[in-house]
Amino acid sequence: MAQRGVTIWLTGLSGAGKTTITQALEKRLLEKGYSIEVLDGDVVRTNLTKGLGFSKEDRDENIRRIGFVANLLTRHGVIVLVSAISPYREIREEVRGKIGAFVEVFVNAPLSVCEGRDVKGLYQKARSGEIKGFTGIDDPYEPPANPEVECRTDLEELEESVDKVWGKLAELGYLAA
Ligand code: ADP
Repeated sequence: MAQRGVTIWLTGLSGAGKTTITQALEKRLLEKGYSIEVLDGDVVRTNLTKGLGFSKEDRDENIRRIGFVANLLTRHGVIVLVSAISPYREIREEVRGKIGAFVEVFVNAPLSVCEGRDVKGLYQKARSGEIKGFTGIDDPYEPPANPEVECRTDLEELEESVDKVWGKLAELGYLAA
């Protein structure tokens, strides 16, 4: 199918819902026959960006490398789903500038909700000091100033969040009519 490449960039706190929304979007896009690729922050850190830590420099380098690959794929007509905390606004903006076809999705739930979910048990470890420099606890998260889409996962059902992203992709002409 003829399709336009685009990077859908999901940013937000750990436990906000990035992976869940990405998987649902992936399923829907595949069902409709789109050519897609997923770059998940946790997966990428075991290969492409292995060895990088969680200092500001390393987090930026992590995002720069993900952005580099996303850009290559996007240029070749792939719909790329990036799911990464990507806490710093400036580097997200840098990547947006390079890729151009970039749809930023702010996956947003209050810290208290993300912490309450504690999907991976990481907040507990961060609170006890076992993990240092955890985003939202003792490391900053800079919310997007002008995201194309905001999903309030504490207020919306998953389906609603997915529909919002889908609607924006359609509006911007990335989905076949
Ligand atoms: P992240 O990838 O951002 O760390 P996860 O997707 O792993 O977060 O976890 C988010 C949790 O929030 C899941 O348990 C998911 O079922 C729940 N959740 C509740 N509502 C939503 C929603 N609207 N969108 C996405 N996730 C939701």
